[in-house]
Amino acid sequence: MSQGLLTVSYIGATILFILSLGGLSNPETARRGNLFGIIGMAVAVLATLMSSRLAGASNLAIIITAMAIGGGVGVFAAIRVKMTQMPELVALMHSLVGMAAVLVGYATYFDPGAGLTGAEKTIHEVEIYIGILIGAVTFSGSVVAFGKLAGRVSGKPLTLPGRHQFNFGLLIVTVMLGKVFLNAHGVSEGLTPLIFMTLIALVFGVHMVMAIGGADMPVVVSMLNSYSGWAAAATGFMLSNDLLIVVGALVGSSGAILSYIMCRAMNRKFLAVIGGGFGTDGAAASSSAAAAPAGEVVAVSSLETAELLREAKNVVIVPGYGMAVAQAQHTVFEITQFLRSKGKNVRFAIHPVAGRMPGHMNVLLAEAKVPYDIVMEMDEINEDFPSTDVAMVIGANDIVNPSAMEDPNSPIAGMPVLEVWKAETSIVMKRSMASGYAGVDNPLFYKENNRMLFGDAKKMLDEVLNHLRAAA
Ligand code: NDP
Repeated sequence: MSQGLLTVSYIGATILFILSLGGLSNPETARRGNLFGIIGMAVAVLATLMSSRLAGASNLAIIITAMAIGGGVGVFAAIRVKMTQMPELVALMHSLVGMAAVLVGYATYFDPGAGLTGAEKTIHEVEIYIGILIGAVTFSGSVVAFGKLAGRVSGKPLTLPGRHQFNFGLLIVTVMLGKVFLNAHGVSEGLTPLIFMTLIALVFGVHMVMAIGGADMPVVVSMLNSYSGWAAAATGFMLSNDLLIVVGALVGSSGAILSYIMCRAMNRKFLAVIGGGFGTDGAAASSSAAAAPAGEVVAVSSLETAELLREAKNVVIVPGYGMAVAQAQHTVFEITQFLRSKGKNVRFAIHPVAGRMPGHMNVLLAEAKVPYDIVMEMDEINEDFPSTDVAMVIGANDIVNPSAMEDPNSPIAGMPVLEVWKAETSIVMKRSMASGYAGVDNPLFYKENNRMLFGDAKKMLDEVLNHLRAAA
């Protein structure tokens, strides 16, 4: 393939990726966006494979074998993964991008073909150094994020004494090692500082994510998404591949914008997040016994829930992580259809950090074919709760916790929440009195106008639907 054709293919792929991102910004156009992304990636891979740089049958054979193995593992993982494990899978994928950047960095450094001198050599080595640095932080940070999301690593923040100073110390050593690396004569001399820097970056990645409390994990997920983009862009610089640079920058910047949106949704400061000093200050030791809610909860049956719904005119459904666990979205939609056929106004309220990944609830509701026009963002619907008859909370907890507004010492203090307690009646569906991801008690359960429907969300909703239909 000629250089001209390769450039044209890369520009085409870039346009498709931009259209893809544009499409993904809205649920109604997301499918089309995905399709653009798939076509763009196919064009990019084919053009790269056919480009003259990779010419040679033996190279092609190795690449195709590697693609078949990688693709096979990917398809296997995608088929096997449950919807609730999606966030962990995404975290794992980010770690692979980081690892790829590290491996490409070392391979490029060892490549004798580079033969660069003077400023060009320095620029090339800076690319390698920064690429490995970002890649290693992304890799180890994503592995810890995977552990936290999968519940294999505790969600409690690790607060080492003087951790900010420790991080700053690591940064200084990294810069000093960079200087040694750039002044080294020959590959073997430069290897030592490079390996030390890699180890430091790996430690930093682990420490950064370990220090973040459960309540702040959404920001970490989107930040690592952004880091993986920058790691890919760095790989693009090392390989002199323009498309990889552009795509990496697209992912990096859209991930950064998402982090900003998540920060706003959780009332965290973006700059504090970027600096890594987030999630713990004042939060770790907060959930004090004094702040623990007390009182009695009023449990209801599925029959009573059906009656409350039958009498209501305005219903707002608040889905959370538990709906994903129970896979209750289809029954939720059947109930919605039933209530709407009886002339009731049923809407969904989506909190930006509901579930375990950005957009988690939207994906589930779209899967169940809930019409987009009744799915509302938090800001659109929060002020409608006082005029709501029944607010039905399905497997959600932290996102409807009034202590975020009422208790300044709460780990989630300041996070805007869905104010379901302002409805005439709120019904919380969950299996027990256990706390949510942030590990915080929820005073909502004890409010006078709140009812608890205990049990698996899918099972209970099936019962509610049967009662509704039986009485129709
Ligand atoms: P929570 O984790 O706060 O609460 C979910 C609730 O669902 C639990 O209290 C649990 O209670 C209940 N539940 C679990 N399984 C079932 C089931 N089968 N049937 C019925 N109920 C069930 O979820 P939210 O969506 O309210 O809040 C999301 C939390 O996750 C926030 O703290 C957020 O910061 C965090 N997070 C979000 C990310 C994102 O990007 N969106 C990423 C990482 C973390 P019980 O055990 O009693 O049933």
